[in-house]
Amino acid sequence: MTIEVKDVVKNFTGTHGALRGVSFSIENGEMIGFLGPSGSGKTTLLRIIAGLERQTSGEVRIRGESVDGVSPQLRGVGFVFQNYSLFKHMTVFDNIAFGLRVQKLPSDQVHKRVREMLSLVRLGGLERRYPRELSGGQAQRVALARALAPNPSVLLLDEPFSAIDSQVRRELRKWIRQVHDEVGITSIFVTHDQEEALEVADRVLVMNQGHIEQFGTPKEVYETPSNLFVAGFVGEANRFTGTVQHGTVSIGPVQLPVEGRPEASEVHVVIRPTDIEIRSPQTEDNAIGTVVRSLFKGTHYDLEIRLAGNHAIHAYVPSNHDPVVQVGDLVALEIRNYRIF
Ligand code: ADP
Ligand code: MG
Repeated sequence: MTIEVKDVVKNFTGTHGALRGVSFSIENGEMIGFLGPSGSGKTTLLRIIAGLERQTSGEVRIRGESVDGVSPQLRGVGFVFQNYSLFKHMTVFDNIAFGLRVQKLPSDQVHKRVREMLSLVRLGGLERRYPRELSGGQAQRVALARALAPNPSVLLLDEPFSAIDSQVRRELRKWIRQVHDEVGITSIFVTHDQEEALEVADRVLVMNQGHIEQFGTPKEVYETPSNLFVAGFVGEANRFTGTVQHGTVSIGPVQLPVEGRPEASEVHVVIRPTDIEIRSPQTEDNAIGTVVRSLFKGTHYDLEIRLAGNHAIHAYVPSNHDPVVQVGDLVALEIRNYRIF
């Protein structure tokens, strides 16, 4: 195990519960996503692992050793933060060389290592530029090269691409995963963007209000969320509440069997838009609704369907669905999968 976090609590002066007892461990070489809404404690947890912040109680171990009181420099961690900007008065070369020179590495080895890093982040030829002469994406790649140059055993990335346009961000996301696989370094990638977390991470730690809601592979948190929060936060979801009657819960005309819940209890129902099939209604169908909105999303249409009882439900149908579903159409719904909480 590379990193173990045990019962970590953080209360900032005058506030309570930035972290409310967080425990997990990360294996060597894994890439972990910390995912959660703003204020859920992701940055605080990362800064405690880095040694930039001290926990109120609990323990962090890196490579089996407690790092309490150990400075960030001696923990062997590298970081890239959204606002951890490059040294503006230094060239790309000098930025990347910075940590190596602090370590008093001989000059020929500094040159060799900086060249390796430039080729790793695919910025060969830009070493004489200044940060102001770089795009946002290039600057973050230099920041990554600078973090990796001293050969840290752990890489911490706090929303590294959140200030960058979505197109470039998507490319950087793929690229960071490739770099991780090439270098094989244990990494933590903080994001509030669920798509980014699912795409980049081997396992995702879902956080909310200072605690862990779930820790699992992207597939696990998406397909088998442990609770309503995860179901709603990771991936798109239709959410309803209803009362169990005769072993079913009703959403307008749609009746869904519920197991293991007492009669008359209130339940939450979560249905993914991808788990709803749409077809032309037959006379015997009762799960029928009217399409009130249709948004073209490229690969699919996002249909908003209004059911009796004024429930709205979103269903995704592939763009090549035949026949094309239009606003005003009556459709029958088939719910292939749903979860009850
Ligand atoms: P996230 O990165 O998930 O957005 P943070 O870790 O930044 O969340 O913040 C978690 C909680 O701790 C928030 O309520 C935030 O206001 C609080 N917090 C973070 N840093 C400080 C600080 N230096 N002083 C006081 N409160 C803080
Ligand atoms: Mg943060």
